[in-house]
Amino acid sequence: MDDTTFGKRNKRGDWAPDGRIETAPVFRLPPRPLEFLKWLPHYFLPWNVIFAASALAYWYLVIPEAAVMQTPGWQWIARLFIVNCIAVFLFYGSFELRLYILRRQGNRFKYNGRFPSEHKSPAFLFNSQNLDGIIRTFSTGVPIWTALEVGMLWAWANGYGPWVSFADHPWYLIAIVLVMPVYHEAHFFMIHRLIHWGPLYRWIHSVHHNSVNPSPWSSLSMHPVEQLLYFSSALIHIVIPSNPILMIYQLHYSGFGAVVGHIGFDKIELGEKAAMDSHAYTHYLHHKFFEVNYGDGLVPFDKWFGTWHDGTKEGEALMQARYEKRKARANAAAGQ
Ligand SMILES: [Zn+2]
Ligand SMILES: [Zn+2]
Repeated sequence: MDDTTFGKRNKRGDWAPDGRIETAPVFRLPPRPLEFLKWLPHYFLPWNVIFAASALAYWYLVIPEAAVMQTPGWQWIARLFIVNCIAVFLFYGSFELRLYILRRQGNRFKYNGRFPSEHKSPAFLFNSQNLDGIIRTFSTGVPIWTALEVGMLWAWANGYGPWVSFADHPWYLIAIVLVMPVYHEAHFFMIHRLIHWGPLYRWIHSVHHNSVNPSPWSSLSMHPVEQLLYFSSALIHIVIPSNPILMIYQLHYSGFGAVVGHIGFDKIELGEKAAMDSHAYTHYLHHKFFEVNYGDGLVPFDKWFGTWHDGTKEGEALMQARYEKRKARANAAAGQ
């Protein structure tokens, strides 16, 4: 496909899509029903449906009987951990293999013209962004994810918490499924904003931001404290009446969903003429500029807090004006 019909490449070889990134029309005023209906399929496709399907597959194929999970046992815990590792390896690895190892579409639709493997950096373990990401994903990321999953399943199996069944409360649980991405966004924005605060940034979040040119293995390349905060969104399911399948969906939404913002390409080509939108540009701009787009735009938190970058020249100018203002404030404080 010809990516120049969808965007522009600068002299450095970086490609940017034309047009502006829009926040989802759910929370925009005045309400625009037609726009909302046009956007609605994108709420489900492809990612939310994939993560909901993977949660169901887990529930029926991987999760043991409640009686087994009443007592913590190495066998079932190890089984969950190994399945999680294999699933992450296959899911993240499939993007890595196609786009970064085989380079099936070269650098067409690639935001940053360079590939991370071409530049070694001492910021990473073994000077490699990929190895750093892989080590952090499997040494702490998936273990933390699995530990939360095991703890919650153990609580459910023993009847600790306000769990409800689909048989008793189907409509309530369906409503929770529908608002879960909105809750994920609110939780993510909150913890993300928190760890951008100076001391926490230096201690925790700078690890994730070492990937200025993010690729699939950057997704869970985080300090363990950030991984714990990130996956802690699943804890809501033991606070409000919920169901363990929803808890697993929430974990999959976080765990597998992390890859979405770190694909590094705007479109994944599916043949000569077809391509799938990655929706990665919002978070790519966060990795590029650090202090914009703390959220992904499903809820327009960044617009409300004045940190939205819509990918246009105006978005860039707004960001620059904010930097200048802050610099002036810092200079004034230093001069006092
Ligand atoms: Zn990121
Ligand atoms: Zn950040």
